[in-house]
Amino acid sequence: MGLSRRDAMKFTGLAAITAAASGYAKGDKAATKSTAKGVILAPAPIPAAKGQRVVIVGAGPSGLTIAKYIKKGNPKVDVVLLDKRSVFMSGFLSNLVATGVLPLEFITHDFLEGARNGNYNFLQATVHDIDRKSKTVFTNEGIVKYDVLVLAPGIDYDYSHWTKGDIELETVLRTKFPAAFIAGSETLTLKSKIENFEGGNFVVTVPGGNYRCLPGPYERSCLIADYFKKNKINGKVIILDENADITIKAAGFHSAFDQMYKDYITYIPSATIDTIDPYKQKITTEFGQVIEFADAALYPRVRGNKLLEIAGVAKDSPSNKAEANIDPFTYQVIGDKNVFCAGDVRPMGFSKSGNTANTEGKIVAANIVKYLGGQELSRKTWSSPLTVCFSAVSANPDLRAISVHAEYAYNDANKAFAFANAGMNEKWDGTEGLDGGKGLKEWGKGLYRDLFN
Ligand SMILES: Cc1cc2nc3c(=O)[nH]c(=O)nc-3n(C[C@H](O)[C@H](O)[C@H](O)COP(=O)(O)OP(=O)(O)OC[C@H]3O[C@@H](n4cnc5c(N)ncnc54)[C@H](O)[C@@H]3O)c2cc1C
Repeated sequence: MGLSRRDAMKFTGLAAITAAASGYAKGDKAATKSTAKGVILAPAPIPAAKGQRVVIVGAGPSGLTIAKYIKKGNPKVDVVLLDKRSVFMSGFLSNLVATGVLPLEFITHDFLEGARNGNYNFLQATVHDIDRKSKTVFTNEGIVKYDVLVLAPGIDYDYSHWTKGDIELETVLRTKFPAAFIAGSETLTLKSKIENFEGGNFVVTVPGGNYRCLPGPYERSCLIADYFKKNKINGKVIILDENADITIKAAGFHSAFDQMYKDYITYIPSATIDTIDPYKQKITTEFGQVIEFADAALYPRVRGNKLLEIAGVAKDSPSNKAEANIDPFTYQVIGDKNVFCAGDVRPMGFSKSGNTANTEGKIVAANIVKYLGGQELSRKTWSSPLTVCFSAVSANPDLRAISVHAEYAYNDANKAFAFANAGMNEKWDGTEGLDGGKGLKEWGKGLYRDLFN
């Protein structure tokens, strides 16, 4: 097999020559660091910066919004959006895809469309390293220099509570019973599990901490039960919830479980998992309860994406491991104002949701434009993101959903944010539920439009 140009650069020292040509002196810390990690030292294939450059890592709802709205705020700012994925697939609405209510195309979108319409550069690249001293991002496609960096890489799973470091067990759990709370292959696996289910217990777990999409596991349970009911499958969804009760929209979900899915859902609160045997398909809880399952979607706790640790900007939050170490009002990294973190990596107790990431992204973009214009950011420049969240509770014969919308306010006494001006619609029986179903689809379409058009 012949060596590619890239391989040659990596292995023959050409990297050092390229580094010098691209502004790095031999022995430069940034150059040494990346050579050691075997990434490409040539500049990434994007045009030279035409003004102050903002590099955004992660093209989820957070990064996409920030890229678009920085350009809207000041078209002279040069924006580069990086993502390792080739196509966008949303987590939101993916429960409806997994249960066959919506087609895969509904949640699948084109990054390039967003870049063309938003007038920024998108590059499909995996970020391996970040050197904040030299303001350099190292990717598999080359290096990118920044004036301001935004980290919006989303969550990683934290299996350590279950596996205590047993990587073999973690790999089996990830492969056989994926959580499907990071959209992509996991969503497709869940879809085929549901379609091929022949009966028995289908376990859905709800983690503790501030996990991604609080109502997501309950919505999923309703939709799976709805699928079993419609297709006359002799199956039962067993919800093992680490929390003492349903974490959001509890009245709406409880009434849906009781009235629509009495024979199809068993809800077990305060169910902390002690052991999982993925081979015998058996879970033991802390209280010694043993649950055997025919299939499962096992959702572990979440943590900040590992990229935060690589960049040296991670800190344990009150609820999760390794989230962004930022000023909660300005989104700037403590000790490095040129780096912002947003979306699901934030440590504030906001809902980890697409809508929150989108509304927050507009605020962060406006603040970055101000900061690049020489303005200092502070608590005075903060405003609240908005969480609007619809959850489907049934799809047959009609789509029905319950919803919440809320802002946040900071409580100085306990130094934390809490819901403010919250409104709930937890009625799914009657026209409100039907309106919720329509609202859910329209909300999704509106969000995709805002991210890509
Ligand atoms: C089943 C499910 C149901 C949901 N339901 C709802 C709902 O009803 N309403 C709602 O508002 N939200 C919902 N959500 C949550 C919502 O999808 C997330 O909160 C949202 O996607 C978070 O946005 P983000 O941009 O912070 O992170 P993400 O969407 O995870 O985006 C992060 C991006 O960073 C990229 N990335 C990571 N590391 C690197 C790297 N090293 N190099 C390059 N790129 C990298 C990833 O590829 C990814 O594209 C749901 C999620 C799921 C899974």
